[in-house]
Amino acid sequence: MVAGASTPRKHSYDVVIIGGAMIGSSIAWFLSDPNSNNAAFDGSVLVVERDPTYENSSTSRTNSCMRQQFSNELNIKISQFAAEFVRNFADYMGNDPEAPELAVNHFGYMYLAPSGVHVRSDGDVYLAGCAPDDDRAVDHNNLRMDRDIWEEKVWPALAHRIPAFERTKVMTQWAGHYAYNTLDHNVVVGPHNEVSNFIFANGFSGHGLQQSPAIGRGVAELITYNEYRTLDLTPLGYDRIARREPFTETAII
Ligand SMILES: Cc1cc2nc3c(=O)[nH]c(=O)nc-3n(C[C@H](O)[C@H](O)[C@H](O)COP(=O)(O)OP(=O)(O)OC[C@H]3O[C@@H](n4cnc5c(N)ncnc54)[C@H](O)[C@@H]3O)c2cc1C
Repeated sequence: MVAGASTPRKHSYDVVIIGGAMIGSSIAWFLSDPNSNNAAFDGSVLVVERDPTYENSSTSRTNSCMRQQFSNELNIKISQFAAEFVRNFADYMGNDPEAPELAVNHFGYMYLAPSGVHVRSDGDVYLAGCAPDDDRAVDHNNLRMDRDIWEEKVWPALAHRIPAFERTKVMTQWAGHYAYNTLDHNVVVGPHNEVSNFIFANGFSGHGLQQSPAIGRGVAELITYNEYRTLDLTPLGYDRIARREPFTETAII
């Protein structure tokens, strides 16, 4: 893989990936790297990214959590592969000395169901969040933050459940976009049913970071072998959207 090029080296590519954040990079890696299980792919890959800083991407604004508590068995299997991938990251990277060591912290999440507020420890501090009550679709570059949400929603909910939270103060805060599939809160992955040679991998509904290894592997398998070889992701395909038949995940944050 050649990183950082601003002008494509060739006039045409076998695979063009739109968006080079978590998901685009994962697909590109599973297609290109000899240590992945798609070594049979020998085509060319171009990743097109409009903002190489990734500043406003969801990937840069994630809470970076993996969990295995999902209502949908396939999502559990997808996250189990994420845990396996992270645990064996050095092996997957071919023990490349330049590959970073991944620091994994184990902790529990507390989710306050009526308010939708969630909290977890984060080293010496805590990380809390929620979706806004008035959660309208906004422009992709609108990352304006409603600073009242802490005072009016998150803090009261936490202090009610854990009185010691009365004394907390905000050290830092941020907002990010959830690509939210309103049909069933799950990713759409796989071929379009009418447009040939077009594969979706989007709509992760808040759990895309941990799904990136399995989705990258799956899409690479589809491209290489025209079928899923490890984990069958067919139920997450676009067909269900076209038929309006949800494949629902209820455990969403
Ligand atoms: C606050 C927050 C917390 C989260 N916490 C978690 C968590 O704990 N665990 C978890 O698993 N998930 C979490 N998520 C969800 C996760 O971050 C996303 O599902 C995941 O990052 C999606 O990755 P992506 O690569 O599909 O999209 P993005 O990271 O949004 O990347 C899309 C990329 O495509 C580029 N792009 C878009 N259009 C074009 C175009 N036309 N041409 C070229 N490039 C284009 C963009 O510039 C961007 O870099 C969280 C999300 C948020 C916002």
